[in-house]
Amino acid sequence: MAVPIAGGLSPPLLGLLADGRLRSGEWLAQALGMSRAAVWKGIERLRAQGIEVEAVPRRGYCLPHAVELLDERVLRAALDKARAERLRHLEVLFDVDSTNTRLLAAPPPPYGSADVVLSELQHAGRGRRGRPWIAPFGGSVALSMGWSFADASRASPSLSLCVGVAVARALARAGALGIALKWPNDIWFGDRKVGGVLIELRAEASGPAHVVIGVGLNVALPPASRALIEASGVRAAAVADACAASPSRNFIAGAIIDELLSMLVQFEREGFAAFRQAWLALDALAGRPARVLRGDDSIAGVARGVDAGGALRLERVGRIEEFVSGEVSLRLSGDDL
Ligand code: ATP
Repeated sequence: MAVPIAGGLSPPLLGLLADGRLRSGEWLAQALGMSRAAVWKGIERLRAQGIEVEAVPRRGYCLPHAVELLDERVLRAALDKARAERLRHLEVLFDVDSTNTRLLAAPPPPYGSADVVLSELQHAGRGRRGRPWIAPFGGSVALSMGWSFADASRASPSLSLCVGVAVARALARAGALGIALKWPNDIWFGDRKVGGVLIELRAEASGPAHVVIGVGLNVALPPASRALIEASGVRAAAVADACAASPSRNFIAGAIIDELLSMLVQFEREGFAAFRQAWLALDALAGRPARVLRGDDSIAGVARGVDAGGALRLERVGRIEEFVSGEVSLRLSGDDL
């Protein structure tokens, strides 16, 4: 375990409550080999970390609903054997500021292998330009992967689009139908945001490019979590909305790791050309009226996919204008959120 990442494992008390069943203080104390006062303190600690624990007078404690905690063995089971060998470290944390920040602070993986960090709780998740990313406990995936490109030019804006394709492929493996991508870095379902991608570069003047790829995904959103996210000014959805049966967080996270590894190896060799058709087939805004926001400007047109470098193509009065992702945001016309 060479990567110095703090955050610890999920508390055993949470493991005992995860199935959502009501457990008496006495039962919990016995199972954990501690006093009832220590159980009560543990419950208070979980609450202080933002985990809702219900107390039923004289009967005990329970979570408002069952939660599938992250489990390294189940995550690994979703990985192709050859690809799994590229995984230098896989860390499942309980609590972290941001999984991206943790990996950015750790030594980068050597060329051709990856480090992955996931966390049950993420207190300071980030989107683009420092915007906050909200990851409700038990209903989301907060995952980051560190990777080193031998050729620094591979760390280009089109990587973000390829990550979107990899995530969409992982969600299709989990049974989700109708997942789409919104340029440049959003995962959508029914014109609502299901997930986001944030790619950050380690600042190094020359040599290989070390990137950290962050994926935040809503797997299932109880109404209160949805309302909390939507208060930030976005229409939100979850992978569960796109699935016939409840999807497994562990399976989804494992499939994302697997698809990211597969994508990175191919992207390194072939670049965006290998993913452009797949991205265009998933384009949520293709042929639809859209607005590009650049500073205070709002530029209206019709979205016409992306060019060979991943730049957005916007048709305006019969002419195509291209926009690079770093400088602008894209909105569906009429979407004032
Ligand atoms: P851009 O189009 O410029 O990327 P964006 O609004 O999609 O803009 P991101 O940086 O991709 O911005 O993501 C951050 C935004 O995502 C936040 O400002 C918030 O509105 C929204 N958001 C935060 N948490 C969630 C979540 N769990 N699900 C959906 N949306 C979220």
